[in-house]
Amino acid sequence: MLELTNISVNYGYIQALHGISMEVGKNEIITLIGGNGAGKTTTLMSISGLVEKAEGRIAFDGKDVTKMAPEKIVKLGLAHVPEGRKVFPSLTVYENLMTGTLGNPKLTKERIKELLEQQYEMFPRLKERQNQAGGSLSGGEQQMLAIARGLMMDPKMIMLDEPSLGLAPIIVEEIFNMICRIRNNGKTVLLIEQNASMALSIADRGYVLENGKITLTGSGKELLVNDEVKRAYLGDY
Ligand code: ATP
Repeated sequence: MLELTNISVNYGYIQALHGISMEVGKNEIITLIGGNGAGKTTTLMSISGLVEKAEGRIAFDGKDVTKMAPEKIVKLGLAHVPEGRKVFPSLTVYENLMTGTLGNPKLTKERIKELLEQQYEMFPRLKERQNQAGGSLSGGEQQMLAIARGLMMDPKMIMLDEPSLGLAPIIVEEIFNMICRIRNNGKTVLLIEQNASMALSIADRGYVLENGKITLTGSGKELLVNDEVKRAYLGDY
């Protein structure tokens, strides 16, 4: 579904990514873990076309998207839920969800109705609060709204940037359960997380990013028991 080959990104004199390569297969959950400033967000932005690549190639769903404009990449079926949720605070929950459909001009009225019902079924609290302003929701509800809005464009793949950030453990668990459901509904998921133990426990495979380089890769289960990962990311000494 997605293949990155030797991607490098520079911000002026700072090199944020040093030739990273990774693959995401259809219907997989892949996680990219790493500490602050490792380059996780930059990786997602390079896939979405939001930062220029100095080097390398990105293919999505069989097409070369390396130099494609972000709005075109979205239309190929790639949803990107950025860090910090970014819901529209003064729009209602319903209106926020409908903005998600703008990324996909192929959606019919019937399909939009179906997608809306799917989101309300998966996130019942959004249904209860459909006429409330996005900004009045709790942090966890805003995160759910941001994910549901991404799903409203009926993407093939969804990229989630730190969905657990700043949320209470019980809400984090709910979000991770939803990520599993999203995959079970046929979507491909690329998940960026600082919460490495939760992310690796639901991921098919993971990549560890350090200082803009992939240093380790393996199945979620393998990485969970890897000594280096345990020491650096799981708080085991
Ligand atoms: P975090 O979890 O803190 O967001 P991250 O792993 O997502 O970290 P990035 O945000 O991708 O990391 O940052 C990678 C590197 O690039 C860091 O050294 C960061 O300081 C630098 N960087 C990120 N954005 C910019 C920018 N707009 N201009 C200059 N340097 C940047």
